[in-house]
Amino acid sequence: MISQSILEHIGDTPLVRLSRLFKNPQHQVFAKLELMNPAGSVKDRPARYIIERGLVDGTIKKNSHIIESSSGNLAIALAMVCKLHGLSFTAIIDPKISPTNLHIIRCYGGEIEMVSEKDSQGGYLETRINRVKHMLRENPHMVWINQYANDLNWQSHYHGEGDEILRQLDRPADYLVLGVSTSGTLHGISRRLKREWPRMNIVAVDAVGSILFGTPPSPRDLPGIGASRVPELLKRDEIPSCIHIDDYESAIACRQLVDKEGIFAGGSSGSVIAAIQRLCAGLTGPARIVTVLPDRGDRYLDTVYDDDWLVKVRQRHLQRSTSHTLSNPVGQTA
Ligand code: PMP
Repeated sequence: MISQSILEHIGDTPLVRLSRLFKNPQHQVFAKLELMNPAGSVKDRPARYIIERGLVDGTIKKNSHIIESSSGNLAIALAMVCKLHGLSFTAIIDPKISPTNLHIIRCYGGEIEMVSEKDSQGGYLETRINRVKHMLRENPHMVWINQYANDLNWQSHYHGEGDEILRQLDRPADYLVLGVSTSGTLHGISRRLKREWPRMNIVAVDAVGSILFGTPPSPRDLPGIGASRVPELLKRDEIPSCIHIDDYESAIACRQLVDKEGIFAGGSSGSVIAAIQRLCAGLTGPARIVTVLPDRGDRYLDTVYDDDWLVKVRQRHLQRSTSHTLSNPVGQTA
């Protein structure tokens, strides 16, 4: 079978049982390897879905110029998809972007618009959104993907991983454990699976320091998971529980994943593995657990797989544990 383009190879990712990392036979953990998508992440799906739906319904035209505020996996995926559809693409980024991601976006032919002024919160989020709005006003051909508010984002995962997991798993899962940033992946997959498996439990995984589920902001390094604003897409009433994992715990779990299963994955994959370890420790009976490993480890050589970085986030982890114990002597959660 000869494919007409690499876009045909987005999706249909494997579902792998992690039996070396989760040795208790009562706990069956199944991981969907979104890291095997062509541009390297789960974001290939919304990038392709949103662009192709737009081309069909006319909201994107042959001469449209696609823009998005992203310095990570979505920008990389959009750069690839836009190239193959002959569209121009500009990623609006800030100085915190990793040099590797900047290089990859450029390799795919994406253009870069770098903001430099910090916003009122001391970050760059508002400045980036203001730049997007300015560009939309200046150029009528610009089309903004707006991943935090675009329903096509979660719908791409509903028809993507959602449909595929139902075909791949012979029996219902008890838990769906997924990392959250825009919440597109979690809402898309959970809405699809819940239709067939209404008793399945949904567990979100957020980064310590992210404000998505009402916890206070604090420094965090790993991209992809967590957010510093609440996305329009996020519907908290559909997500009954959330586990917070910090950078150090994510990195340790990433290293266990490659050591035991030979899966070399990015930071948020470690976050979901650490969350499942915590979940399993509290379970009394058998459980079938499904998760997604969103991207590969190559883009995290300077963080997750760097020993100096690990020492830094370990210190932060230990400080947090100490202050938590002091402020919470009997161990209740706030
Ligand atoms: N992990 C990684 C590595 C990601 O790039 C993303 C997307 N930002 C997520 C997890 C979370 O996905 P979503 O935005 O769909 O919530």
